Amino acid sequence: MSSIIQLLPDHVANQIAAGEVVQRPASVVKELLENAVDAKATDIKLIIKDAGKSLVQVIDNGMGMSVTDARLCFERHATSKIRQAEDLFSLCTKGFRGEALASIAAIAHMEMKTKQDQEELGTHIVIEGSKFVSQEVAVLPKGTSFAVKNLFFNIPARRNFLKSDVVEFRHVMDEFQRVALAHPNIHFTFYHNGSEMFNLPAAGYRQRVVGMFSGKTNEKLVPVTEDTEIINVQGFVCKPEFAKKNRGEQFFFVNDRFIKSGYLHHAVMAAYDGLLKDGSQPSYFLYLQVPPNTIDINIHPTKTEIKFDDEQALYAILRASIKHSLGQFNVAPVLDFDRDSNLDTPYHYKDMEAETPTIQVDGTFNPFTDDKTNQHYTKSSSGSGYSSNSGSGSGSGSNSYSGYNKRVEPTTSWESLYVGLETESIESSPFNFENEEVTSSLFNDEDVEQAIHKTYQIHKKYIVSPIKSGMVIVDQQRAHQRILYEQFLLNMTVNQASSQQLLFPLNLFYSSGEMELIEELKPSLETTGFVFDGAESDHIVISGIPVNITESEVSLVIEQLLGDLQDGIPANSYSQNDTIAKSMAKSLAVKTGSYLTEKEQDNLVNGLFACKDPNISPFQKPTFITMRVEDIDKKFAL
Ligand code: ADP
Ligand code: MG
Repeated sequence: MSSIIQLLPDHVANQIAAGEVVQRPASVVKELLENAVDAKATDIKLIIKDAGKSLVQVIDNGMGMSVTDARLCFERHATSKIRQAEDLFSLCTKGFRGEALASIAAIAHMEMKTKQDQEELGTHIVIEGSKFVSQEVAVLPKGTSFAVKNLFFNIPARRNFLKSDVVEFRHVMDEFQRVALAHPNIHFTFYHNGSEMFNLPAAGYRQRVVGMFSGKTNEKLVPVTEDTEIINVQGFVCKPEFAKKNRGEQFFFVNDRFIKSGYLHHAVMAAYDGLLKDGSQPSYFLYLQVPPNTIDINIHPTKTEIKFDDEQALYAILRASIKHSLGQFNVAPVLDFDRDSNLDTPYHYKDMEAETPTIQVDGTFNPFTDDKTNQHYTKSSSGSGYSSNSGSGSGSGSNSYSGYNKRVEPTTSWESLYVGLETESIESSPFNFENEEVTSSLFNDEDVEQAIHKTYQIHKKYIVSPIKSGMVIVDQQRAHQRILYEQFLLNMTVNQASSQQLLFPLNLFYSSGEMELIEELKPSLETTGFVFDGAESDHIVISGIPVNITESEVSLVIEQLLGDLQDGIPANSYSQNDTIAKSMAKSLAVKTGSYLTEKEQDNLVNGLFACKDPNISPFQKPTFITMRVEDIDKKFAL
């Protein structure tokens, strides 16, 4: 039998290898930027066109390459960074595999110009799909420039696999951010389709972070520093009240390399213990330096994961140092001279007189003796407070918490004492700001008549109501999502949304990646009732908002929307509207755990059954169930 095994030609092997290194334009950006950093550049320019699909160019002023190296660098496993396997344990460069340039050259049109400082002349090479097209001597400035055009020109399947420009651009932004944040001492500029996205002069960590994420970031940062034998920690975490809905701005750098670590993330979250509302995410920018021989960066092909020798100790140190920093910020604000005292109090408490909550306790009351709780606490006539009939103490009949303008539940059980207390102590903590869980009153229509059928709220979660055949149990959050979703969709498609003019336009600050997304979403957002008043490079100005949103909910809605669009904006306008309507319904719907007045309950039930599709939430979950009398009978028949 004849032999059938053959060695693959180099250009085919390179194409296959390229699949591992280059998934999208952002991968090229990462490799070229890292090479420039490794070449000790102090000035790096990134120029891309069409989100990198037609051009990725990186120009550096680093050490350049000799004529021989200029040719060799495109060979697979050609690297100047390690010589033997042991070198892997003392790495201080980004690259070491010697694969990137060979891979990129296999699947794109590539042009390289490079010159070493001490040389008169440089080298200009053109290579297309691994084939050298030309090599010339040229007059060049010191440093290296790589231009990568027409990525995947010879692999149409990969090219078609690329996402929209907005999505690809966001990936490029991620890579740019990671490298530029890791190296504040390098001047970075970034151009997209001819316009300057960033110009970040060499600076310290703080200026770099602020330069990357807009000026507003400065006041949000709390510095973290810790120096021990096994690790040096520097950087910033954000004050708890600025925590976000999504995990956008969380960065760990280990020895100047961006890494992901679920374990260390957990350490950070543990340091915030009790300071964050459920599900909110603090931004952080943490720079860790550890001895190179105590880490292994080799376990992940794209090298964002890393193995530490003594992870547990790092966890403890990180957690303690962040906790310490947050504590200093919290208990010793006088030490922080730059601080804006307006930030100390949530704005809706700011102008209120402090009032010591008082509560009347009936010392003789024992919940276990009998069922007469109604005699102790009865519902007040307004339905929004409870009063004590025990007659002891002063102020009987008034709501002890009225100074906070909070609803106290009209429950008739002794537990209400504790319910009220719990809510107050949590909600008046300085770390709960307006950006969270703003549950609007469901319906404003004061004149809606009392329903003929009574509704009951149970566990601040379900609304139960008798119906002809038995009873219906409505999930309040899902039902409200359905109602809002249909409202928004109708407004957007029929284009009749009215908006409320804001007295003072809102300025909301976003990163440039987020700004690009918002730009793209603007037309759809306008159909929901948003009015935009021009936009700067780092913020939007909103002068009108949809009628069913309050001003304090706006930033929450937009954050949620940006979070929901992490994976890109749907291509057609129908699904774009659908996504926005879903996202807004999600952020604005009354949540499980919110108390609803009878009128609100009633409106919710009626509103749900007036929907086109009342059975399921926009997220395909059941909104209600019914129980027939027969079903109930059966249960009693046992
Ligand atoms: P690696 O970075 O893993 O060594 P690459 O394929 O990215 O592999 O690069 C191969 C070699 O080309 C590098 O080791 C380096 O010597 C050289 N090189 C690449 N980019 C530059 C640059 N911008 N300036 C100087 N030398 C470079
Ligand atoms: Mg490299």
